[in-house]
Amino acid sequence: MKKVMLMATAILFSVASVFATTNPTTVSDTTKSKKVKPAKVQYTCTMHPEVLSDEPGKCPKCGMTLVKKEATKKKAEKMVM
Ligand SMILES: [Zn+2]
Repeated sequence: MKKVMLMATAILFSVASVFATTNPTTVSDTTKSKKVKPAKVQYTCTMHPEVLSDEPGKCPKCGMTLVKKEATKKKAEKMVM
């Protein structure tokens, strides 16, 4: 009897750990637009969205100061399409 309980507990723990590791990924994915992770900030020109730079600088096409582009990649891609 004791062995069965031990097994049940082990299964429960393994299931719980799987859920614990799976949940944050799902949550962070759905709340991506709300909570933006500062993973990679890119700079772009307001006049030339195709211009992308990893660091602040000036647009090579018009010389305008590049502005921060944060989590708007998906939106921009949609707009381009
Ligand atoms: Zn430009």
